[in-house]
Amino acid sequence: MRSERLALMSPSPGTRRELLVYRFGKSGTGPKVYIQAGLHADEWPGLLVVQHLLPMLADADAREQIKGEIIVVPYANPIGMGQNVFGYVAGRFDLTGTGNFNRNFGDLYQDTYRQVDGRLGENAEENKQLVIQALKNTVANLPSDTESAALKKILLGLSIDADYVFDLHCDDRTSGHVYCVDNQLEIATALCQRLGFRYLFTEDLNGIVAFDGTHLQPWHWLQKDFPRAGLHMPPLAVTIEYRGQYDVEDQVASDDARNLFGFLMDRGIVSGEAGEPVLKEIWISSLQAVDTMYAETTGLLVFSEKLDTWLNKGDIFAEIVLLDGEPNQRVPCRARTNGYLMGLSHRRLVRPGDQIAKVAGQEPLSHRMGGNLLQL
Ligand SMILES: [Zn+2]
Repeated sequence: MRSERLALMSPSPGTRRELLVYRFGKSGTGPKVYIQAGLHADEWPGLLVVQHLLPMLADADAREQIKGEIIVVPYANPIGMGQNVFGYVAGRFDLTGTGNFNRNFGDLYQDTYRQVDGRLGENAEENKQLVIQALKNTVANLPSDTESAALKKILLGLSIDADYVFDLHCDDRTSGHVYCVDNQLEIATALCQRLGFRYLFTEDLNGIVAFDGTHLQPWHWLQKDFPRAGLHMPPLAVTIEYRGQYDVEDQVASDDARNLFGFLMDRGIVSGEAGEPVLKEIWISSLQAVDTMYAETTGLLVFSEKLDTWLNKGDIFAEIVLLDGEPNQRVPCRARTNGYLMGLSHRRLVRPGDQIAKVAGQEPLSHRMGGNLLQL
């Protein structure tokens, strides 16, 4: 195990933040794996999972049981972690105004296309290496004119050539779930089974993508541009949602780390047998079939159904108690599709437009069509 610290640019006189990076195994001896936690700096369960995972990787490394290279960034967003506003960590958006920390990583496609256009030949492996080198060049040329841009550039610099990208997040209150792209459904299902996560959400690579999709989108477009070049995107780049924000518990995190380590065994990156998967049945939904519910009025949100309850279309799962009128008047919140109530908001005092819940169905919803389905 080796570690290093990478300095970000100084955002203001007398201050400077840095990233801690761990490296295991040896570059060029097998697949490259990249794992990071806390890119949304107010999403903490993954931070603890990584702390349990690191000793396992260090032990495997000492025994020379790692085939390839594994990079772990135990906290991917020191900027967001420092955004403590009156006691609350505001870690999703950059307070300086650059937006969501997990969006807008820059257009890697155009610059990469320009570098490989006219240079791809018959040999698929040579083509792959050309694209990887072009992607590295593209990332190296990304602007780093703000602290957040510099952070994103450093993270991509560590990960852009990885075969496996695991970005560890969480939601408000939810069971464990994974986001993957449509054409990685099979391997992502195996990941969910290994992790014991019952929900898997699939999305396409059109429109806005998060950190995981940033690694796949250029390949997606280049495959269309150069259909005879034999280009294959990396095997897996996913966002793993480690339950809810306050699900920070040692026993759970220890099991989660062992299961993620087990998946690396399943893929032959760490030697050993992980045994039977934790879960067999996975509920798979395209993002078009996952309904994000919003408050229609202001008041107190009171859930009447528990997390993971099955809802039929029209079922009431919560009420908004109106505080400004006749006593105890309520507006029901009804499911708009058949599915599992798999996400509950932390919010209780809500205003119109606040996200309150997610219902994971399997019927594409007309109001969820047309790309850019990732919420801000
Ligand atoms: Zn997140």
